[in-house]
Amino acid sequence: MDIRIAGIVPESIVDGDGIRYAIFMQGCNRHCPGCQNPATHALDGGKIFDTAEIIDDIKKNPLLSGITLTGGEPLLQIPPAIEIARATKEMGLNVWCYTGFKFEEVPPAAHELLKFVDVLVDGEFILALRDLELDFRGSSNQRIINLNEWRKSHG
Ligand code: SF4
Repeated sequence: MDIRIAGIVPESIVDGDGIRYAIFMQGCNRHCPGCQNPATHALDGGKIFDTAEIIDDIKKNPLLSGITLTGGEPLLQIPPAIEIARATKEMGLNVWCYTGFKFEEVPPAAHELLKFVDVLVDGEFILALRDLELDFRGSSNQRIINLNEWRKSHG
């Protein structure tokens, strides 16, 4: 399946816990002032990859704790994101996903993707709330939400 990608960092230590395969998905409509990744905004930018190629690449690295779907806005490409996230879970690895949506406002079409996500970092970047001390987030409105814990407490 095609996926449009701005870039891949095969061993990232800044996009979640442990060593992570970080996929910077192309396309974002939010244009948050101060965004660190403006090159990811164009919906027709980046390069098209095959999800199978990415899944193979993830499988090859025994050092990975998991993958991180970031961008850009991962929720603009739900079907390929699901394919990669599902395959990653089948490998016994964890999945982090960034989104500009607040968790409560994630569109229903993306709920299937969240089933394969362990940790969601939510909310758009707000320049006035930027905090360089925060782990894995750019601004203090963003939350690191453990969806496994959330699922336990919500049946
Ligand atoms: S949601 Fe993320 S990628 Fe999109 S403009 Fe905001 S900070 Fe940039």
